[in-house]
Amino acid sequence: MISFSKDLIVDYLKSEDSEVHDFLLEKAERYRLENRDKAVYFRGLIEYSNICSQNCYYCGLRRDNRLIKRYHLERDEIINLAMQAYNAGYQSICLQAGQISSNKEVDFVADVVATIKKLSESKGQGLGITLSLGELSYRQYQQLWDAGAHRYLLRIETSNPLLFKKIHPPDQSFNQRLECLQALREIGYQVGTGVMIGLPGQSYEDLAQDLQFFQEKDIDMLGMGPYIPHPDTPLAGEQEEFIPDAFATTIRMLALARILMPDINMVASTALQSIHPDGLKMGLKAGANIVMPILTPEENRRDYMLYANKKHSAFETLQQDIKAASYEPALWQWGDSPHYFKRKEEHA
Ligand code: SF4
Repeated sequence: MISFSKDLIVDYLKSEDSEVHDFLLEKAERYRLENRDKAVYFRGLIEYSNICSQNCYYCGLRRDNRLIKRYHLERDEIINLAMQAYNAGYQSICLQAGQISSNKEVDFVADVVATIKKLSESKGQGLGITLSLGELSYRQYQQLWDAGAHRYLLRIETSNPLLFKKIHPPDQSFNQRLECLQALREIGYQVGTGVMIGLPGQSYEDLAQDLQFFQEKDIDMLGMGPYIPHPDTPLAGEQEEFIPDAFATTIRMLALARILMPDINMVASTALQSIHPDGLKMGLKAGANIVMPILTPEENRRDYMLYANKKHSAFETLQQDIKAASYEPALWQWGDSPHYFKRKEEHA
């Protein structure tokens, strides 16, 4: 495993020398091509509900935000969206919602997952299913795995427990999040996590520690994006010092992550694309190999604003943009993280 000292990572992140920036991008591209290829895989994102039991200080879906209209798609609507995605060439979808809390809701998702698997497998390899539903119990994660989901995204948001505490209410704990990540790994999921970059009070040292945290936790998938304040959240009013250029820092974080973890899957986040017109291209150049086009129905999208001014690119546009950046849209392929299979072999 490649490792960099925390000081070296901080130096790379802080440097104002454009040659350092170029060096990191070139090295990330080389590592990507040595370990992967130019393929960019799709995860059709179905944000099936914006109801959330939690109150994270930075998120527009937080329970106490009364300014959004809550929605929850019907079972058949979700299944239809998934099958439309499958027929269009997606091999993977991601079902996302605010944090779910009840067994009844877990039963609902398990049924949806099992039905999508059955329907899509009757036509071929079937859809790969990623879930992003927040912190659940071991038993609930197991139930969803048994239903057919095989990847799970649960962002740690920051690996600094003190900063975590500042951006979450007292009833959410850093240790609980770690336990959930461990449970997912034990059950057998491909595990994804990630952080926001440019949070009030976040330092370059925190970000360096984030990269080391991902390596220590031996993660399979990574999602990192610039922090974009949502006006209807408590954190939006925070004046504490920000990292000066969250976009450029995110690009460097992606490049460093690709160098340190060449075989993981890494997403070019929607936040990255929302904050800069070249966000997708720059994210790919820095080593990202996954995109997540939003498949949520048009009328619900405005109510799924985790942060302000979230961008949405159509499937076709994304494919064109990927080609324009000299990468290859990989349709009809699952594109699982090779890292996952390597670690399974090592621990067999
Ligand atoms: S980040 Fe997730 S858990 Fe927190 S409020 Fe938003 S949707 Fe809910």
